[in-house]
Amino acid sequence: MFFNMYIKRDVSYKMNKIQNNLTKIFHRIHTSAIKCNRNPNEIKLIAVSKNRSIMQIISAIDAGQTSFGENYVQESIDKIHNLSKSYDNLEWHFIGHLQSNKSKLVSENFSWCHTVDRLKIAQKLNDHRPIGYKPLNILIQINISLEPKKSGILINDVTSLTEKIINLPKLKLRGIMAIPKLEKIFANQLLIYNKIANIFYMLQQKYNNIDTLSLGMSNDMESAIIAGSTMIRIGKDIFDT
Ligand SMILES: *Cc1c(COP(=O)(O)O)cnc(C)c1O
Repeated sequence: MFFNMYIKRDVSYKMNKIQNNLTKIFHRIHTSAIKCNRNPNEIKLIAVSKNRSIMQIISAIDAGQTSFGENYVQESIDKIHNLSKSYDNLEWHFIGHLQSNKSKLVSENFSWCHTVDRLKIAQKLNDHRPIGYKPLNILIQINISLEPKKSGILINDVTSLTEKIINLPKLKLRGIMAIPKLEKIFANQLLIYNKIANIFYMLQQKYNNIDTLSLGMSNDMESAIIAGSTMIRIGKDIFDT
């Protein structure tokens, strides 16, 4: 009996911790935005729930969070189906590496895909988007740090992929996503972030509907916001308790 009570207390302590963590993140977004004269409301928070339990996600939902990011297709589909029984206002973002044989599941279950880096994937996402659904929101992933084994396309290929994606009727291209590697020297890091932001502004001038720069995680959200990020993806600083 005593042991049971202890477990319960421990669980609810951890759930409160998730809510506190979310409050802290919103404070960090606010502070960074104000510092560089940006409107904090322009920056959307995606809670990255890969490897986290349904209970942990519910705890974030209870704190008002509705947008979640997932990396692994099968794990995420189970969570999405389970949670859709109780919540109809959740928005799911696929942020993991996408294999083409999994693109049907992503297109049927998510509202956003951040990791499109080749035409074949875009075509499959388009072909499998169910009739009656809104277009799937797409971000092109850019391999900005030129890491050989990382996903994403090179800067020089962005325009040609963009031209093809905008012709796919069931996709809506919204912008770009990047996962820069952390640089030891801060000036180098800013240089990379500015390079990404410039691609984003270039696309914004050329095409309609481009409004999203998905950049920034727990360790680099401040630099990303300074560079112009409009969507940050935070996992550990929300869910680690
Ligand atoms: C895991 C992951 C995140 C979250 O990273 P944290 O360091 O836990 O905040 C963001 N984006 C992508 C693509 C990820 O895989």
